[in-house]
Amino acid sequence: MLLSKSNLDDRADRLYDVMIVGGGAGGLSAGIYLQRFRLSSLIIDKGKARSFWMQELHNYLGLPPDTPGRVLLQKGKQHYDSLDGDFLNGFVESVIDEGDSFSVRVKVGRTNSIYPVFRAKYLIAASGIIDNLPPLEDMKNVYEYAGYNLHVCMVCDGYEMADKQCGFFAGSEASIEEMVFNLSWFTAYITIFTHGQFEVSEPLKTQLQEYGYRIVETPIEQFLGRNHQMTGVQLVDGTIFPLETGLISMGSTYHNAYLQEFNLDRKGGYLVTDKMGRTSHPRIFAIGDLKVGLNQAIVAAGDGALAATQIWRDLRVPRRWEVLASTT
Ligand SMILES: Cc1cc2nc3c(=O)[nH]c(=O)nc-3n(C[C@H](O)[C@H](O)[C@H](O)COP(=O)(O)OP(=O)(O)OC[C@H]3O[C@@H](n4cnc5c(N)ncnc54)[C@H](O)[C@@H]3O)c2cc1C
Repeated sequence: MLLSKSNLDDRADRLYDVMIVGGGAGGLSAGIYLQRFRLSSLIIDKGKARSFWMQELHNYLGLPPDTPGRVLLQKGKQHYDSLDGDFLNGFVESVIDEGDSFSVRVKVGRTNSIYPVFRAKYLIAASGIIDNLPPLEDMKNVYEYAGYNLHVCMVCDGYEMADKQCGFFAGSEASIEEMVFNLSWFTAYITIFTHGQFEVSEPLKTQLQEYGYRIVETPIEQFLGRNHQMTGVQLVDGTIFPLETGLISMGSTYHNAYLQEFNLDRKGGYLVTDKMGRTSHPRIFAIGDLKVGLNQAIVAAGDGALAATQIWRDLRVPRRWEVLASTT
């Protein structure tokens, strides 16, 4: 059921088996499995999942490569709803461990907000990450192209960048070292833009020059292009660099503030889990982009299946069916 301010009272005293924070590919997949295991679940989602920004979902078995991410979300929500899962548009602010259950405080509504508290035995953190974009005065200019031919994921879109004039928008020296030489698998024509945010060391500059990559350290004024197709960048000094595509690697924001009070194992910003998605807390699972692994929609969906299955294994008990027992 889709919960809203008007029907929240119906769920006030309910102890859910599982609360899922985030209704992206991972959270929806977990919810579908949980409902089919006959466990009760509530997905709380603040919206604008990372998949929402995917204009074309690549590498997803069975879906045409021009499928928008929002179609995956829409179909996933319909599927979950058809299994009677509860879904609430809201922002999870905090989680408290009460021993054998969690209480979860949620902000519902941007204006006249209310703050209901829900309870569940298990928690699945499926709240993902979001990419940091080049900070311009006019951010609309970045959103015009981000997710179209200005990419954020080399695994997803390296194929689309093949042999093209590519701008690499770096957030740090480490991001250049980590990404540029791998990007060169797809294209030889790479210009690195630091947007004036950090200095590139001399040894790395020399190495990049040896490989034939240009570095531009002057800040960007704006992206150029039209109809969501970026065709270049203009720097603050007026210089124009024509480009056919771009890759942004400026770091990520991790949506995990509500887990602050738990001292969970992490690697960088990512949560460390076992192969079924269990974190260092026995009743908290992490799936999708928020956990250590490969940030892909199909992996997030698979993670959801694993976490839900493990929780079912934890909770299931043999049932004694009185009627059958008395007749055998
Ligand atoms: C532009 C772009 C293109 C991409 N292209 C591809 C591609 O072609 N192929 C591919 O496989 N992958 C692609 N990806 C990656 C893919 O989108 C992610 O791997 C996938 O969406 C991860 O799913 P998830 O469920 O972990 O997180 P998400 O889809 O990000 O879902 C997390 C949800 O949790 C919500 N949330 C966060 N914090 C809270 C909170 N406190 N309370 C409530 N809700 C919260 C978020 O708003 C979001 O709705 C792309 C990503 C981007 C940005």
